[in-house]
Amino acid sequence: MVRKPVEYQSDVWVDWCPGCGDFGILASMYRAFSELDLSPEKTVVVSGIGCSGKTPHFIKTNGVHTLHGRAIPFAMGIKLANPELTVIINGGDGDLLGIGIGHFIALGRRNIDLTIILHNNTVYGLTKGQASPTLKRGLKPKSLPKPNIQDAVNPIALALSSGYTFIARGYSMMVDHLKELIKKAIQHKGAAFIEVLQPCITYDNIHTVEYYKKRVYKMEDSDWNPIVEKIDEREDKMLKALAKSMEYDEKIPIGVFYQDKCAVSFEERIHERIPTYLENPPAKQKIEQDGRPIIDNITFKKIFNQYIVEVE
Ligand code: SF4
Repeated sequence: MVRKPVEYQSDVWVDWCPGCGDFGILASMYRAFSELDLSPEKTVVVSGIGCSGKTPHFIKTNGVHTLHGRAIPFAMGIKLANPELTVIINGGDGDLLGIGIGHFIALGRRNIDLTIILHNNTVYGLTKGQASPTLKRGLKPKSLPKPNIQDAVNPIALALSSGYTFIARGYSMMVDHLKELIKKAIQHKGAAFIEVLQPCITYDNIHTVEYYKKRVYKMEDSDWNPIVEKIDEREDKMLKALAKSMEYDEKIPIGVFYQDKCAVSFEERIHERIPTYLENPPAKQKIEQDGRPIIDNITFKKIFNQYIVEVE
């Protein structure tokens, strides 16, 4: 029998500010997990630091609350050690696109089969609302003494140029729509990225529920087709997605911007080099016996021969 959304709720009290958009993201994740019937034992939610960093505590699967900006390398290690797992990263705009931006680009280049859910609220909520990398220059939420002096990152354009093969944007107050995006991202074989517009009701009095209500529209309602089914469609669909990502003032599109179904994942490329990788990945290998590490002579020589220097 399929697990119900409530079965993914942990006993930990959800202590986000009442009305925070993070609640919508969490509800969408419970529903998506339920509809995909994800096994809690084979699912891992990984986070960094920030309000979004608390997400793994609220979900009854495996979870790791890691360091600031470092959720992606943790998640990459988990997935590559055991490719059977479904691994999802929850991070804020300050966490993933500030201190963690190098890892964000590296994941796209590798196209590892992971899902990122970016809680984009344009401020560092946990530390009292400083400007994050997604706040536009000239804006002054109530938490800033003066307007923001820096330009903003465009997360969709950055994901496109980094090599992500599934790229979407959702809105935290449209839970059913976001749930569908999360399901598609998890089912996609490769690096999947969802930017979620998430009002921070405590520190950002600009990007409010009213603000998004007037602007957000679904791309699916038009003849938008972002899916690459053949390699020669890539350039055209990527350029269209890039142009669409620039639309971010009076109207803000949500939905799938780009999905490349032809791309080869990192795990498949490792498998080509090491044919036993998928059946016998590092997490399944026996590495100790009776408390001592196991390493046979042949493996030992293979690893260390390259370091041996002959001395005359
Ligand atoms: Fe949400 Fe902002 Fe409160 Fe953090 S500070 S829980 S982002 S409303």
